[in-house]
Amino acid sequence: MNPPSNPSTGHGRPGTVYALGRNYAKHAAEMGAPAEPVVFIKPASALLPGGGRVRMPEGSHEVHHEVELVLSVGAGGEDWSADEARDALAGVALGIDLTARDLQSVAKKKGTPWARAKGFPGSAPISAFIAWDALPCPFAEIDLALEVDGEPRQRSRAENMLLDPVATLVQLSRWFRLEAGDLVFTGTPEGVGPIEHGQTARASSEALGIELAVTLFER
Ligand code: MN
Repeated sequence: MNPPSNPSTGHGRPGTVYALGRNYAKHAAEMGAPAEPVVFIKPASALLPGGGRVRMPEGSHEVHHEVELVLSVGAGGEDWSADEARDALAGVALGIDLTARDLQSVAKKKGTPWARAKGFPGSAPISAFIAWDALPCPFAEIDLALEVDGEPRQRSRAENMLLDPVATLVQLSRWFRLEAGDLVFTGTPEGVGPIEHGQTARASSEALGIELAVTLFER
């Protein structure tokens, strides 16, 4: 599949894919982690625009779904004020942060990076983006949900995020130099769990009018 046409720059190649962890208190709790957002990076090669088939990564037998809202960044910079961050928000999409939970658990235990658990091919399916200026409702009212073969697993609203989009970009711009074309997975609500071989995870948002599905296969 071709890389996504970038929603903010028109360039074919996306920039850096940032991802927040622990940005919903109830998900942090289910992971036994403090409700304090962390950030990691997924390679652009993990993006799977429009969803589709995803292969379990080598060494993993437990891939979890994490439905998330994804921001696109339309400007570059560092050390942004809230106004600068708001001006840089270009669009919103649905994404699924597919996670090899068994590999991540080993990494957490050993204190090694999460890259293999979070960066495998297809581990970042994303929908089309809706322009920030064309959102059908205030961001906080956007719903996000995920079901696996028809069974409801996750359901929440953006208002439950600990860092909202402006706070997210302000913080990221202090830690990194943001660039037009960057994407930000904003963290998942509670209800994460495994997708088995042959099962389909379907993410949806009624407010955004978006669906995104992936089907998982063993190697
Ligand atoms: Mn996540």
